[in-house]
Amino acid sequence: MLRENLDTVRENIGQACRRAGRSPEEVTLIAVSKTKPVEMIMEAYEAGVRDFGENKVQELTDKIAQLPSDIRWHMIGHLQRNKVKYVVGRVALIHSVDSLRLAEEISREAVKQQVVARILIEVNVAGEESKYGAAPSETENLVRAAAALPRIQVCGLMTIAPMTDDPENNRRFFRILKNLSVDIERKNIDNVRMVCLSMGMTGDYETACEEGATFVRVGTGIFGERSRQI
Ligand SMILES: *Cc1c(COP(=O)(O)O)cnc(C)c1O
Repeated sequence: MLRENLDTVRENIGQACRRAGRSPEEVTLIAVSKTKPVEMIMEAYEAGVRDFGENKVQELTDKIAQLPSDIRWHMIGHLQRNKVKYVVGRVALIHSVDSLRLAEEISREAVKQQVVARILIEVNVAGEESKYGAAPSETENLVRAAAALPRIQVCGLMTIAPMTDDPENNRRFFRILKNLSVDIERKNIDNVRMVCLSMGMTGDYETACEEGATFVRVGTGIFGERSRQI
């Protein structure tokens, strides 16, 4: 079941990339394993997945302790400043940096641990009240300020597009994020390499691939529905 789902998702990513004249290797599939047991994560691991996404710090650290050390963990959920110390040094990428205060805390912890923290800036492209993220107009300033902090590397942008039945509705938001990323890259800011674009979930990852995603974050499409909806 999981293996078939995974094959389907990989195949869909490949086709979407080809439609857009991109190479499928440009897109990394992150299997979003939140609420799912380690047994299921191991099943995906056996099928070759090495990138997993979690959105809760406690669950993330519990799973890191139990699973193979060559997994690249992605923190994709809202991060509270008092939990930064559990995440820095343990994850490949923090996708959800939405304020300078959070970036400052990540920097402090990275200095303490003598590691470099790779981060994405989360952008609330659709301006949804319920979502975290910087406004598109604030994003460049946040990128500049975060990149100036010690031991932070800004690697790109992330967005969570609105819930919708029709992925076409989100195409314009993916385009806005891509354009924003290109605009900021052109400024040649120190410590900023806008190479990552984290966008697209189960309902809209193919559209996101067509619009330039380098990470898609797929949970339900791989692991099935979550009973605890978070
Ligand atoms: C849960 C979650 C996903 C995956 O959602 P699905 O619709 O199950 O694919 C992706 N990104 C973030 C930030 C999430 O919290």
